[in-house]
Amino acid sequence: MADKIIDLRSDTVTKPSPEMRRAMAEAEVGDDVFMEDPTVNRLQERAAQLFGREAALFVPSGSMGNLTCIIAHTRPGQEVICEGKGHIYNYEMAAMSAVAGTLPRVVSAEDGIMTWEQIARVIRPKVYSRSQTALVSLENTHNMAGGTVYPTQLMHEICDRAHDAGIAVHLDGARIFNAATYLGEGVAEMTKKFDSIQFCLSKGLGAPVGSVIVGSKAFIERCRSIRKMLGGGMRQAGVIAAAGLIALEKGPKRLRIDHENAGLLAERLAEIPGIRINPAKVQTNIVIYDIQQTGLSSADFLAELARRKVLGVPVDAEKIRMVTHLDVDRKNVEEAVETIREMLKSHL
Ligand SMILES: *Cc1c(COP(=O)(O)O)cnc(C)c1O
Repeated sequence: MADKIIDLRSDTVTKPSPEMRRAMAEAEVGDDVFMEDPTVNRLQERAAQLFGREAALFVPSGSMGNLTCIIAHTRPGQEVICEGKGHIYNYEMAAMSAVAGTLPRVVSAEDGIMTWEQIARVIRPKVYSRSQTALVSLENTHNMAGGTVYPTQLMHEICDRAHDAGIAVHLDGARIFNAATYLGEGVAEMTKKFDSIQFCLSKGLGAPVGSVIVGSKAFIERCRSIRKMLGGGMRQAGVIAAAGLIALEKGPKRLRIDHENAGLLAERLAEIPGIRINPAKVQTNIVIYDIQQTGLSSADFLAELARRKVLGVPVDAEKIRMVTHLDVDRKNVEEAVETIREMLKSHL
């Protein structure tokens, strides 16, 4: 049994580093609703620069970032095309309907990666008696499809064609730096055609709190008002932006390690009888595997594993998700796999 808890539930569980804690303690701050927090301003400028955009906005969470962008791009009664396993559709409290008043128009895509043909099929006809498609939202990497990555060319094609049809395109880029690491490309080039991008500082990049929206100056000004409407106007937020700045500078460089550890986890899991996973499909830091043949439900599998100090989350009754991050190393991954192997031995 592992001696400390190996927490593979999510890359959100990472704790701020001592360097972040110091920067937070020493952060220069002001009132960000007056746009006078110098640390928040620096974070926003740096994010805009990294993405090659005019402006950026610090938001408390990825969910608020996505919702803010959806409100900015749409009117109530319009439709948003998104993927069936997507975060905005399944894990954001139906905010796109409850708050933005939009209807999700869902496409089920293999590995969560939508093609233009699939999107085109569900665009509403331009008829006065039909609700209109206002937005397409892509998720890269795709969380619940197992951290899968959109080819850059495909993202560009979808943006170009959607724009030709008068439809805006948003990127839920919660883990866009993981995608960039996998592809060996820069985020500015990858995301240059999107109308808006949301990315998380609080996942693999390691910050305790926060996400950033990037886009044009006019778009970000609109988002600033919407963020305030949603209750996301923050005051001396430089305290958390200080950690975000470090996450942004240092986080992306080490994601490669998380990907190696996820690859190792997948390979070792594939060797365990009763577990089904194709390691070749693991591109980034998310590992989803099928445990149906173990005879255990996801809930029982995870409960038993938690007693042995290894944590994951259920995807459904038969699938488990584990995520590597900066607070687990190669040895922890090996220990986690051995713990699973031992546990199943006493079961099969
Ligand atoms: C985590 C995540 C978000 C935002 O999550 P918050 O918990 O609200 O910060 C959005 N999209 C995807 C794909 C995510 O994984």
